[in-house]
Amino acid sequence: MEVKRTQHPKESHGVSPAKGHGTTHLGKTHVVRVGNHLVGDGHFTVIAGPCSIENPSQFQETVEGVKAEGAHLLRGGIWKMRTSYQSFQGVGRDGFEFIRDTCRNNGMSLVSEITDPRQIEEVYDVVEMFQVGSRNMHNYALLKELGKQKKPVLLKRGFAALIDEWLKSAEYLVAGGNDNVILCERGIRTFETAMRNTLDLNAVAYVKQYSSYPVIVDPSHAVGIRDLVPQLALASAAVGADGIIVEVHPRPAEALSDGMQALTLGDFKEMMIKLKKIAEVVGLPFAPIDNAEGSSR
Ligand code: PEP
Ligand code: MN
Repeated sequence: MEVKRTQHPKESHGVSPAKGHGTTHLGKTHVVRVGNHLVGDGHFTVIAGPCSIENPSQFQETVEGVKAEGAHLLRGGIWKMRTSYQSFQGVGRDGFEFIRDTCRNNGMSLVSEITDPRQIEEVYDVVEMFQVGSRNMHNYALLKELGKQKKPVLLKRGFAALIDEWLKSAEYLVAGGNDNVILCERGIRTFETAMRNTLDLNAVAYVKQYSSYPVIVDPSHAVGIRDLVPQLALASAAVGADGIIVEVHPRPAEALSDGMQALTLGDFKEMMIKLKKIAEVVGLPFAPIDNAEGSSR
């Protein structure tokens, strides 16, 4: 399905005016390939996995569980950005081998966050998409280096960033030559403190309408409360997002990070049943998973 767009009355945020990278243009979502999977081609994409990859068995169990319920891509932190230095900082390079094996054995591609340009080369064979986290949306040194890469980038919105600043960060990637950019709305900080953040669905509708980047929503970090994550995932599909990225843990009480917002595998299964229906109603049916190895297109 082609998603129709119109130009913002005042300004254009179309991707890639830069010559030589011009596969994108305003009026149509630029399709981004992540491994074998296409994002933004008129199908809904589900990215799922733990906040942090903790150890081989936790990762394997989560991957098998989300794959069985139809997830298209995996998420999982290798180096964790934590507000407190004392919190778990991630498995880091000790995890590379088992992470790569688990993804390959399950025929799935991983998106994971990096914060430092030096990590690009280090983790290049482990991830299929680099994630720029909310705290690093303004990390222009990182954006410039990622702009030189071929692999796609999931660019999260800064928790206090204007939409305009978010789109300008995306332009750093495109200007460098990498137009494989997916935007991710993950909630912003407002006066409300009952929940972790406030999911800005306005922003999702806006960037869908006035930019050509695919748009993914992260309901987990947006609301921060497990019981509310599925509703916001459904709302994201209803507003026309190209997909979601959601945290899942086999035993959230034992999670080393963000256990409060992690769905159990049972919650994930239940959410997927409803999400599939909403996605179909709005004309963005789930992307098929099409081969015997289980990797999606
Ligand atoms: C994450 O996805 O694990 C994460 C830390 O997200 P954010 O950058 O949105 O806080
Ligand atoms: Mn998290």
